[in-house]
Amino acid sequence: MTAGIYAARQKLNTLLITKAFGGQVARKAVAIENYPGFEEISGLELIQRFEKHLRKQKIDIERDSVTKVKKMDKKFIVFTGSKHRFEAEAVILASGADPRPLEVPGEKKFIGRGVSYCSICDGPLFSNKIVAVIGGGNAGFEAAIALSKWAKKIYILEYAPEVGADETNQERVKKIRRTEVITSAALKQIKGKEFVNSIVYQNRKTGKNITLLLEGVFVEIGSQPATSFVKGLVDFNEKDEIKINPRNNQTKTPGLFAAGDVTNVKEKQIIIAAGEGAKTALSTYEYLQKS
Ligand SMILES: Cc1cc2nc3c(=O)[nH]c(=O)nc-3n(C[C@H](O)[C@H](O)[C@H](O)COP(=O)(O)OP(=O)(O)OC[C@H]3O[C@@H](n4cnc5c(N)ncnc54)[C@H](O)[C@@H]3O)c2cc1C
Repeated sequence: MTAGIYAARQKLNTLLITKAFGGQVARKAVAIENYPGFEEISGLELIQRFEKHLRKQKIDIERDSVTKVKKMDKKFIVFTGSKHRFEAEAVILASGADPRPLEVPGEKKFIGRGVSYCSICDGPLFSNKIVAVIGGGNAGFEAAIALSKWAKKIYILEYAPEVGADETNQERVKKIRRTEVITSAALKQIKGKEFVNSIVYQNRKTGKNITLLLEGVFVEIGSQPATSFVKGLVDFNEKDEIKINPRNNQTKTPGLFAAGDVTNVKEKQIIIAAGEGAKTALSTYEYLQKS
């Protein structure tokens, strides 16, 4: 969205294609406290403000999913899920990251029927139910805090012997009596009939398999860059992030730029993604002036 605002203000003829507004910020379970200008703001409100600002610009917006980007001579062709194709002289990739799946039996089968990747979106469906959050990092702990508004019991399962959440989040979770943190837990299976009714995890210290009866599984084990549609045009690092020239956000293909969490920029934060988006739009403008 920031790249869109900057590109439009440089008077570039700009089309922004997005599946949805908000990206990872829309999944943020507790208030954002580190975006300057807002001491505390919900992810939803911050995103609504970004979108309002974006829509004030002279910019075309398509709600669609990009399935392929191809380079033909000097132009790019962008293909979308609803079978549209767009031509462009330059492309900015800002597709961020998707939640990393668990890849255990039952996960795919029960998506939308007990398995969720967004506590804030789906939490209200689990009112007075028992749920598990898989992942004991900050995202997992924050999901548990959000879920405590609705669920009657929340397990947090962490694969490692120690949780990774910071002290503040650990303190917050301790105060919620209905939470139980289980470490050294390797999730093996999600079970159910029509909906989830249990999970099986292995205690990695004893090797024993343990069943927990519950109705919701919230996956918070990190994210993976959304890059499937640009294979061949960019180089990736070991984390599958797009490698960019840090000076101007150029990928290995001239005219193809990338910004934010989809890239190998070290810090993954809203302010950084926004800054990178601004920088990339300005570099794109410079590139188009010269080409
Ligand atoms: C649970 C959680 C909590 C966080 N908390 C904080 C925090 O408190 N403070 C902070 O600064 N940062 C936080 N972050 C990190 C922050 O959300 C990210 O750094 C930031 O959202 C990255 O922005 P982005 O635009 O690069 O990517 P994203 O937010 O991932 O946005 C990518 C956008 O691209 C779209 N898209 C993806 N693929 C396609 C496609 N093929 N076609 C069309 N559109 C597509 C998506 O729909 C989405 O709108 C948190 C992240 C998570 C997951």
